[in-house]
Amino acid sequence: MDLLTASFQDVSSAVKNKKISAAEVTQFFLNRIDRLNPQLNAFTHVNINAVADAELVDAEIASGKNTGPLSGVVFGIKDMLCTKGMPSTAGSKILQGFIPPYDATVVARLKKAGAIIIGKLNQDEFAMGSSNETSFYGNCKNPWNTDFVPGGSSGGSAAAQASRLTMGTIGTDTGGSIRQPSNFCGIVGIKPTYGRVSRYGIISYASSLDQAGPMVSSVTDAAKSLEIICGHDENDSTTVKNSVEEFSKNLNPNIKGLKIGLIKEFMLGQSDPDVEKVFTSAFNELKKMGAEIVELSIPLIEFAVPMYYLISASEASSNLARYDGVKYGFRSEFKDLSSVNLEDFYAETRGEGFGAEVKRRIMLGTYCLSSGYFDAYYNKACQVRRLLKNQYTEAFKKCDVIFSPVTTTPAFKIGEKSTDPLKMYLNDIFTTSTNLAGLGGMSVPFGMSSENLPIGVQLTCAPYQEQKILNVAYALEKVSLVQGKVPRVY
Ligand code: GLN
Repeated sequence: MDLLTASFQDVSSAVKNKKISAAEVTQFFLNRIDRLNPQLNAFTHVNINAVADAELVDAEIASGKNTGPLSGVVFGIKDMLCTKGMPSTAGSKILQGFIPPYDATVVARLKKAGAIIIGKLNQDEFAMGSSNETSFYGNCKNPWNTDFVPGGSSGGSAAAQASRLTMGTIGTDTGGSIRQPSNFCGIVGIKPTYGRVSRYGIISYASSLDQAGPMVSSVTDAAKSLEIICGHDENDSTTVKNSVEEFSKNLNPNIKGLKIGLIKEFMLGQSDPDVEKVFTSAFNELKKMGAEIVELSIPLIEFAVPMYYLISASEASSNLARYDGVKYGFRSEFKDLSSVNLEDFYAETRGEGFGAEVKRRIMLGTYCLSSGYFDAYYNKACQVRRLLKNQYTEAFKKCDVIFSPVTTTPAFKIGEKSTDPLKMYLNDIFTTSTNLAGLGGMSVPFGMSSENLPIGVQLTCAPYQEQKILNVAYALEKVSLVQGKVPRVY
């Protein structure tokens, strides 16, 4: 079996039928990490117990137990998720050395399905960024060309998966952090509807927007892993009780008659010519397959980026207040703790522990939440957010799926935007409205840029309609020009 191309289903059945052991599969990927990760810096931690974990799965199989649909499937996890006994830092110095005593629900569900957790993946600090350049643990690089960023914030997940250092990864998406790096690295990423996937054990950034999802190599694997991590969790009251469909069984590439919406406001020639070319060829394929094209207008999309940055920074300033150097993680060194006053203690530790981008957002967010400004900023943004959601509800009465680019450009060079936060924020122009409106969204690779970097397209659905975007992605994948191509670091 070629472990670089085998699906989750193939590997899981081979492991259950004892054609290959979970330990052998795990060792294969550990060897790849050893060989290739130094060029990428995709991992913040490699699980030295991974083979032992895999041997436990093998032992269960030997004793006749049913070990689940991901038996022996090797997963890397974004460092934003708590993993029992393994460092979980959110890419920040302030959580250096923090080892959680429990697994995030997403991780627990993967393990219960037989998956092996091979390590933790690099990311922008607290998931704030679009290039992985804000990580305390160093840049992660794009495997298609290491002068370029892998995207962010789930850059490590995208790079590791594109180079097949993992069979699957988990990322989080608050304003595009699954879809944008998937797009930059040529993999499939899905951000589920808000409420589909438990946030329990995921380090909080902006709680009303955060959602975790798979970043994998095929639509089939996306569907399979999504159905495992989705579903109600009594530890997260925002998860919905809707039953979870068998996305992978229901995959259907026949999209004849499906209504595909194009948002007028996204079509104003704001994208790079390579992105437009790939978008147009995917669009033509959809038409050939018999999809019906509908034009839509969502005027409030114009305000998505400012709304997103206002709401996410405000919620971050509140969520990040817990990092005080007292309970866990990093604490500044003090010569004599008994003579430091509390305010200095906090200021020193937080000043040293957080990076510049995180501090910028904490300050902006604190300002937006301060009395006198709360109504004018945070509350106003929440009101506009509701109106944006209403506009999407109207739009989805006319179409099944919305089709757009993921970003205006392919991956950019390391350092190109890191000194200009506004330029960096504008990267999120096509992705943030999905989170604000609580929709499902995905990125699927479709073409290549003139510099040989992959470019994807974005599919967005009404809440809980993930099957529809999975089906369109499944159809597009079959004619994708990225199929069969591999990055330089491979
Ligand atoms: N790039 C966005 C930001 O910097 C998105 C991050 C995310 O989805 N976590 O906040």
